[in-house]
Amino acid sequence: MTAKEYIDSLRRLNTRVYMFGEKLDNWVDHPMIRPSINCVAMTYALAQDPQYADLMTATSSLTGRKINRFTHLHQSADDLVKKVKMQRLLGQKTASCFQRCVGMDAFNAVYSSTYEIDEKYGTSYHENFKKFLIYVQDNDLTVDGAMTDPKGDRSKAPHEQADPDMYVHVVERRPDGIVVCGAKCHQTGSINSHWHIFMPTIAMGEADKDYAVSFACPTDAEGLYMIYGRQSCDTRKLEDGCIDVGNAKFGGQEALVVLDHVFIPNEYIFLNGEYEFAGMIVERFAGYHRQSYGGCKVGVGDVVIGAAALAAEYNGVEKASAVKDKLIEMTHLNETLYSCGIACSCEGCPTRAGNYQIDLLLANVCKQNVTRFPYEIVRLAEDIAGGLMVTMPSETDFKSDTVVGNNGETIGDICNKFFAAREGVSTEDRQKVMRFLENMCLGAAAVGYRTESMHGAGSPQAQRIMIARQGNIQGKKKLAKSIAGIEK
Ligand code: SF4
Ligand code: FE
Repeated sequence: MTAKEYIDSLRRLNTRVYMFGEKLDNWVDHPMIRPSINCVAMTYALAQDPQYADLMTATSSLTGRKINRFTHLHQSADDLVKKVKMQRLLGQKTASCFQRCVGMDAFNAVYSSTYEIDEKYGTSYHENFKKFLIYVQDNDLTVDGAMTDPKGDRSKAPHEQADPDMYVHVVERRPDGIVVCGAKCHQTGSINSHWHIFMPTIAMGEADKDYAVSFACPTDAEGLYMIYGRQSCDTRKLEDGCIDVGNAKFGGQEALVVLDHVFIPNEYIFLNGEYEFAGMIVERFAGYHRQSYGGCKVGVGDVVIGAAALAAEYNGVEKASAVKDKLIEMTHLNETLYSCGIACSCEGCPTRAGNYQIDLLLANVCKQNVTRFPYEIVRLAEDIAGGLMVTMPSETDFKSDTVVGNNGETIGDICNKFFAAREGVSTEDRQKVMRFLENMCLGAAAVGYRTESMHGAGSPQAQRIMIARQGNIQGKKKLAKSIAGIEK
């Protein structure tokens, strides 16, 4: 699809979106939602551009046809590297979360997991999934990978919750399918997706059988609706003008997705009670998404570093050694994240189903660094920008012709006089870069660059658990013993 065809395709869906207590009729053109749609649209636009063909498109392993890489099953370590490079490119072009990766990561995790479930149980989940994915690839669809349940009381397993809806679960089994209830929280890009793949959010035991469920479902299925998630300073998007928004073109999007007795036909079911495989799907999806952050957040970081350098230039301090050193530090941190994304991809290996999986230890190290470095990068960006990024009057003031001065000066004149940049740089350009940095560091875009870096693809402790599991301390002890001459 072209970007326009993608946006038009959303209009044809009967997606139910609620915001500020009301159902939205035209959510596609809503000023608070549209930037996030533009962002996904970039995944289509860049795929049409011949200069990005190698990164943005691939040959389907299922059909041999040319497809958008966001719908691809990775066939080699090289594919995994290209995925990370594609994500960095999109981060650079949007400075936002472009949302479509969750589906791509779900495809690869569910593809390999269903193969192994079928091997053990003789089920046909893998065939179901392949048919679904061919449909997705041929129609170039955006699919949300829905994992995070509300979880209620974290000390209790799914079946122990006072309210069973705290985890998505099967409430009825029919000959032709299942009926599911529950919800998924902070779902990136859910409203902008044509379909959803639902997956369990934790490893499960036998008593959680009804919660061990994975399936695909159209976004406008009967009984499915969404409540839009707020972002810091989001209502600036409702104001006239766009300088105060910071990044008015692009943005991320999260929502609460509710399943209220949604019927899922058998052909769209990928896990239904085989509880011991819930953990495998979680681990693989999380691994892929932790790799993803070594691409997308790096691309966004590139833009933040660029904006900080511009702010320094506009203030006339770009030659100061302290500023140069901060930009070096920001670059060092950002490229370290990229190195991890590339490393876990290069060390990838084939799954039993044949698609490639990242090195799990390195992917978790990648994401652990992502929970820290963007925070340091924005701290340095704020340091370089100065306090103006949070104290500057509004765009309306800069344009106001209300007279305030004794000599007839307007509010606009006064703002432009006192917030003038160095010679040769317009005050408006200075305003733009300051508001952009405000947006990235603590406005709506900080959802994607800061808090999502912390909690997206799993909170820091989740990676530490995986690092502990994959770190092979016993093997390392043996190395030490052997060199130190310790026999036992
Ligand atoms: Fe893609 Fe990054 Fe957004 Fe995840 S956080 S969907 S990897 S852009
Ligand atoms: Fe994310």
